[in-house]
Amino acid sequence: MPPVNAPYRPEGLTARPLHARIHPDAVAHNLARLRAALPAGRGTPRLWATVKADAYGHGLARILPALRHADGLAVLHLDEARACRRLNWHGPILVYGGLYSPADVLLVDTPGLHLVITHAAQLEWLARAPLAHPPSIWLRFAGDIHHTGFAADAYRAAYGIASDLRRRGLAADVGHLNHYARADEPDGVDDADAVFRRLIEGLPGPVSTSNSAALLKHAARAVDTQWVRPGLALYGASPFADTSAAALDLRPAMSLHSQVVGIQRVSAGAGVGYGGAFSAPRAMDVGIVTCGYADGYPRAAPTGTPVIVDGVRTRLLGRVSMDMMAVDLGPVPRAGIGAPVTLWGAGGLAVEEVAASAGTIAADLLTGVSARVPAQLATAAFAR
Ligand SMILES: *Cc1c(COP(=O)(O)O)cnc(C)c1O
Repeated sequence: MPPVNAPYRPEGLTARPLHARIHPDAVAHNLARLRAALPAGRGTPRLWATVKADAYGHGLARILPALRHADGLAVLHLDEARACRRLNWHGPILVYGGLYSPADVLLVDTPGLHLVITHAAQLEWLARAPLAHPPSIWLRFAGDIHHTGFAADAYRAAYGIASDLRRRGLAADVGHLNHYARADEPDGVDDADAVFRRLIEGLPGPVSTSNSAALLKHAARAVDTQWVRPGLALYGASPFADTSAAALDLRPAMSLHSQVVGIQRVSAGAGVGYGGAFSAPRAMDVGIVTCGYADGYPRAAPTGTPVIVDGVRTRLLGRVSMDMMAVDLGPVPRAGIGAPVTLWGAGGLAVEEVAASAGTIAADLLTGVSARVPAQLATAAFAR
């Protein structure tokens, strides 16, 4: 039988070895790295650090201290904006989702709020609710992604109404916001940017277009814009299928760790996991790792998905189940019960690689780590 390794336990009182480690120092590094990518010279754009979805799954409260040099934060909805204020963020906050109902206007109760406006009714709601702190508003163009926002033929009319709100003191400013559908592609923003620039030609107001991919691949497009809005890259994941985060000098802000909790010696022809999706070609040692799809590990990850066991890169075997998965101990015969396992984010195993193997993207995995997985800060440097 393989040996039973010395038990390894993360700090803290969690019984199950599965945990995420959050690296705020990596976020601080990535923020500086993204700033360095901004076009220098006349009017370098300001930077909204996108922290929606609980800072892409890393925990807003854990990440905020590392973002103190950001110019603003960007969130999805107003409750998230209030959470930022509760955590003592006093700078600007951009709200992507804006208003969902007239009552939401009552939540716009803090100075420095920037609201993305995506349809005409939201302008009416604002017009009817004089606020102590009128928000800056950003008109969103539907662009080439067609998620939310004004179509080209409605944009100028919306701008007229918004400008009227500003004249009446109901809005602090009116800006122009576009979001690209294909910023990860080499020529992916050329047409979209040209269309947007024509649309807003001659309309005063600040402009914001660039997310992580646009900033890293098409930095020149951020010239003559006043704000950029990166998210994913702040957390150290590459937005590109063909370029690793390491090649972009981005550091992963989350690593996911567990342990081998069982070892099975299976004979040739034996199945491993539900449905016998993996059938052992020969007698082999299989490690059982406590991490499954109920923890947010993608069930779609197939045999061959990389996993690190005791510092050695090996592979997933068979189907991921709710609470556990099987891994090949062939390359790491010394691994016993308690051997440390890295699922992603350290030891050279990028979350993008696991995501690609599962047919998805890094942001899907980072935001999908479930509440039952405890998180711990990897360094004390930013702890409050
Ligand atoms: C989420 C979001 C971003 C950040 O995008 P990343 O690809 O994570 O950098 C920027 N703008 C808008 C409108 C968004 O919804």
